[in-house]
Amino acid sequence: MPLLPGEATLGVLGGGQLGRMFVQAAQSLGYTCVVLDPDAASPAGAVAQAHLKADYLDAAALAQLAQRCHAITTEFENVPARALDSLAATRTVAPAGRAVAVCQDRAREKAHFVASGVPCAPYAVLRSTADLAGVSDELLPGILKTARLGYDGKGQRRVTDRTQLALAFQELGGVECVLEQMLPLALELSVLVVRGADGQAVTYPVQQNLHRDGILAVTEVPAPDVPQALQAQARQSAVAIAQGLSYVGVLCVEFFVLKDGRLVVNEMAPRPHNSGHYTMNACDVSQFEMQVRAMTGLPLREPRLHSPVVMLNLLGDLWFTAEGEERTPDWAGVLALPGASLHLYGKAQARVGRKMGHLNLTGATPEAARESARQACALLG
Ligand code: ADP
Ligand code: MG
Repeated sequence: MPLLPGEATLGVLGGGQLGRMFVQAAQSLGYTCVVLDPDAASPAGAVAQAHLKADYLDAAALAQLAQRCHAITTEFENVPARALDSLAATRTVAPAGRAVAVCQDRAREKAHFVASGVPCAPYAVLRSTADLAGVSDELLPGILKTARLGYDGKGQRRVTDRTQLALAFQELGGVECVLEQMLPLALELSVLVVRGADGQAVTYPVQQNLHRDGILAVTEVPAPDVPQALQAQARQSAVAIAQGLSYVGVLCVEFFVLKDGRLVVNEMAPRPHNSGHYTMNACDVSQFEMQVRAMTGLPLREPRLHSPVVMLNLLGDLWFTAEGEERTPDWAGVLALPGASLHLYGKAQARVGRKMGHLNLTGATPEAARESARQACALLG
């Protein structure tokens, strides 16, 4: 029996912008929402019917969340898998703690890609300095990444030789790391796959992504530079990866297309994803509504892209002039552009590099969407 709109209460661990947009989608369907997040100024806490301000491992808060909610999800990748496991004793939890735990650890994540038959970069797991000597030459030049807690390019060092590798391992704190061969990237893409508890899986169209300084800057759909056969391969690979985890909910899988045209999986996130924000205005069902559908046991259906779209991330940098003076971006100008939809996350304080919102620009053609995006960039400076 699905948890029906208008009746059930849904909980979310984590109160950032992903939680906020999840809550907004759930409320729009008629669900009541409870957010657990220690931050009093949490973007999701500000819109949910209730905000439990406590740590993710606070036993009393977890008990309250379980008591008030019929099903619980997470928006925060590094939420302790133990918190999800304790909730799962009495409530539906999607995705499950064991699936999230794989996504939280690059070593386990890579092992899962290999087990799923999806090619990833050649790699080695480094647990201590003793492991450095065993590293194969083929992994250099490479990228050393901490196994846990890295995001937006943080917790990574590019290394060309063994001396740099040893130094980088030390700089990253001597914690467990994955060393990956540096690959010649042509472009980056990602795929949202949604899987229900009954095993049904659907995918969204492939997203082509552009990063700046390790942070996602632009997503374009349909992916302009990815051949159809490769797009189909990426979608099938994402489904295989989700099936192997018995995953329930929205999973985002990031891929590289190499200069020789090969597709290689990079990493995955156990939640709706920044690169999937385009679905809010360009698809007939958003990634956040899909997360609600998957966790409540409502039917999933094949999502349809109804407009070509460009998504621009809005970082806190836009709230400052080149001289460092505070300013308000020209929202009225931006919203006058054809196909422009603005999503701000309600964060009081703009900081350089902080994700403050995003802008979706849809068009009748990819060129029309791109033209609006160009004009938005010109207006935002
Ligand atoms: P994060 O969790 O910070 O997003 P990623 O593993 O996605 O970490 O790495 C961040 C970026 O670094 C990628 O988007 C890509 O541009 C680049 N990168 C990561 N791994 C490799 C690799 N093996 N070869 C070349 N570039 C890479
Ligand atoms: Mg990444």
